[in-house]
Amino acid sequence: MSSLETVADPTPAADEVIIKVGAATTWGTDLKVWRRGGHAKMLKPPTLFGHEAAGEIVAVGSQVLGWQVGVRVVANNSAQCMKWVFCQGQEYSLCPHLTWNNGTFAEYLKITAQIVKHNLLPLPEDLPNVLASMTEPLAWVLQGVARSKVKRVNTEQLHYSELRILGVFHKKPL
Ligand SMILES: [Zn+2]
Repeated sequence: MSSLETVADPTPAADEVIIKVGAATTWGTDLKVWRRGGHAKMLKPPTLFGHEAAGEIVAVGSQVLGWQVGVRVVANNSAQCMKWVFCQGQEYSLCPHLTWNNGTFAEYLKITAQIVKHNLLPLPEDLPNVLASMTEPLAWVLQGVARSKVKRVNTEQLHYSELRILGVFHKKPL
């Protein structure tokens, strides 16, 4: 059973930041977690849901360099350790020590040190949070296109909602 709850606002450790969530997405992984009762690597309920978001930095840990309160950012859903062979080969999703960004379906989100270091990106002024929150799924598509010979996808053949959205990303020639 799940419910909406009031939770304590997070506070940052010395190497973390807190963002006020401006927009958070719902994707297939959230649905799978809901239906299956968890995700082997990411989370096990009861816990806060959501793993992709854009918003504004509202607190910065004392040892964080390069980020200030008031900067709008998108936080990727995970970050690599940079110590494993896959990380050094830029195969970041294969890192066995990924740090996950869970809890974007809340007003405030703690961004862990690894994500602050590797996968927190500043947003241009004219990019709304709603669009910026889709950065990570868009990155899948761009990576997929870069690695494949596929140039276009017939979105009418895609029925699963997430794939349809990813299909729309594919629709415009890059
Ligand atoms: Zn790693």
